[in-house]
Amino acid sequence: MSVFNAYMQLSGAIDADVYRDEALSRRTTLRIGGPADLLVVAHTYAALSRTLDVLAREQVPWTVLGKGSNMLCSDRGYRGCVICLGREFSRLTVEGESIVSGGAVLTSKLVNLALKSSLAGLECCTGIPGTVGGAVAMNAGSRDQWIGSSVRDVVVARPGKGLVRLAASDISWEYRHASFQRGDIILEATFDLVADEHAKIARRMEALLKRRKLTQPIGLPTCGSVFKNPAHGSVGAMIEQCGLKGTACGGARISEVHANFIVNERGAKASDVCALMKRMQDSVYAAEGIELEPEVRFLGFEA
Ligand SMILES: Cc1cc2nc3c(=O)[nH]c(=O)nc-3n(C[C@H](O)[C@H](O)[C@H](O)COP(=O)(O)OP(=O)(O)OC[C@H]3O[C@@H](n4cnc5c(N)ncnc54)[C@H](O)[C@@H]3O)c2cc1C
Repeated sequence: MSVFNAYMQLSGAIDADVYRDEALSRRTTLRIGGPADLLVVAHTYAALSRTLDVLAREQVPWTVLGKGSNMLCSDRGYRGCVICLGREFSRLTVEGESIVSGGAVLTSKLVNLALKSSLAGLECCTGIPGTVGGAVAMNAGSRDQWIGSSVRDVVVARPGKGLVRLAASDISWEYRHASFQRGDIILEATFDLVADEHAKIARRMEALLKRRKLTQPIGLPTCGSVFKNPAHGSVGAMIEQCGLKGTACGGARISEVHANFIVNERGAKASDVCALMKRMQDSVYAAEGIELEPEVRFLGFEA
């Protein structure tokens, strides 16, 4: 693999920003992560295709990153290329009772446009950080309501195949899981929504935001819920019952506000977060016999 060759071929393009040794701590809400060998922000589909071709030729591994709000990146960084979507993927338009959104659009912008247009269906995404691409990839939402329920179709860049339009029914949508193929890059999603009174939608969104402010460590560096809820019960309550709220390791601490959140209090390392996650898993397994499954996605931990 030659990251250097890839860099030489990709840098200088007007429709892409190319960075070497970009600190992932700058690109994640947890503010943790060493350097990615290469980071490309592709502003057009042509730039994205070219990037994928070069990376394939130079055998450089790659991954996609939105706003990094569901990511734990290794202290060593990532030996490969991180791809982000830029300008061409930031379009947002209303078409009747549907909204078409690029993958790079902030989920908050999509939710706000739905409210402004008096369209219901995306309330479950109120207050969720990150991009629409990340939200669709993660099937973001609450425990029993998620973004996938409003999706009509999704356009992905599928390496080796080009652009592919998938109907919502081609994808299986489950709690924090959507069955895209490995390597699919979500470029655009269309949401079918339902006309409703503006005031009613606003009330539903305000109630969710109020709850979020009361129950989550808002404004601090976190990656959201670290573990998925098991089939029965709340993982936050289980971790709290194990007496772990407030437990610290290095610069990371299990939030006092919500036990399923880990806060980077002061220069935490990924290894601090991993140590806390292991402690949470071991304690809940010992107390409840339940194996907690991470919701956060890991990058750069491969051997
Ligand atoms: C304070 C806080 C609260 C949160 N609350 C919630 C919540 O209530 N519900 C919830 O579901 N989540 C929540 N999250 C988690 C996170 O915000 C969501 O999962 C979000 O949708 C991730 O979007 P992102 O752009 O940051 O994706 P990233 O974190 O950058 O990426 C997440 C995953 O999606 C993939 N991905 C990103 N973009 C694309 C793309 N264009 N194509 C293909 N794959 C892609 C990445 O490779 C990665 O595997 C919260 C996070 C924080 C920090």
